[in-house]
Amino acid sequence: MNILREPRVYLLGRQSVDASGLEQFLADVGMSWSTDTEVGAEQLCEAAGRLCYMSFGQGRKTNAQYLANIIESAHGSVLEHAVWNFVILGVSRSFTHELVRHRAGFAYSQLSQRYVDESTADFVEPDCIAEEPELHALWEESIRQSHAAYCRLVEGLRKRFADEPDATMRRKLARQAARSVLPNATETRIFVTGNGRAWRHFIESRAHEHAEIEIRKVAVKILRLLRQESQSLFGDYEIVSLPDGTEIARTAHRKV
Ligand SMILES: Cc1cc2nc3c(=O)[nH]c(=O)nc-3n(C[C@H](O)[C@H](O)[C@H](O)COP(=O)(O)OP(=O)(O)OC[C@H]3O[C@@H](n4cnc5c(N)ncnc54)[C@H](O)[C@@H]3O)c2cc1C
Repeated sequence: MNILREPRVYLLGRQSVDASGLEQFLADVGMSWSTDTEVGAEQLCEAAGRLCYMSFGQGRKTNAQYLANIIESAHGSVLEHAVWNFVILGVSRSFTHELVRHRAGFAYSQLSQRYVDESTADFVEPDCIAEEPELHALWEESIRQSHAAYCRLVEGLRKRFADEPDATMRRKLARQAARSVLPNATETRIFVTGNGRAWRHFIESRAHEHAEIEIRKVAVKILRLLRQESQSLFGDYEIVSLPDGTEIARTAHRKV
């Protein structure tokens, strides 16, 4: 059993523009347009915004200026055309319970506790418990007891469902019931896709000083990755260190 204290966030996917499709569309409507960004998400959001007024080749000159105005004027639906895919590891089931409350513009695929054997599970310890030896000992004892109970329950339930001929179903029947004693601290893994507007709302809610520490860590990590992806879409956030050593993010443009 490993004890985990730091979430791991991996950026797996981003969008790219189909240049030939874009050229064909512009040719068909008799317009020309070029933008100064190479970033697919930024090109797509600008193209979507320009389509609203058919303003290709007119008005604001740079992509950064164009998207700053979109954010300033809270024309947030335009940001929904940009999508990023992440994998998050080393997080607890409490974290994912909070994460999946974010509905609009998100898709999730999470490790199944019904199919996956949790007898080798790892556990996520909150920093404030890890920092106090007595509290850490209490936490670890509690986790070990729950985990041992899970393993014993799986064994007992396999016998209880011995008549089930399908071995996969037998394991599933045992694990889905036994998991009821696993703690919130059990490590889980989740694949998350979100659009630009949804990621902004998530960051504002969860990289906030009132948000729980674990989800706040993830929100700040995602913000750092998204800022590398697109300054125009995420560069307005400021990351601030609090006196307790944790970080939050702020922007003047909330909930575009
Ligand atoms: C600090 C903090 C404490 C929290 N504490 C609790 C708690 O104690 N208990 C609890 O249950 N939850 C709690 N939550 C979760 C919170 O209530 C939301 O469920 C979560 O933050 C997702 O926010 P959302 O609904 O805005 O996001 P999304 O579901 O992603 O929605 C984004 C936006 O889309 C719009 N929208 C989405 N769905 C609808 C709809 N059906 N109708 C109309 N508009 C819609 C809204 O404008 C919404 O803000 C907490 C959240 C935070 C940040």
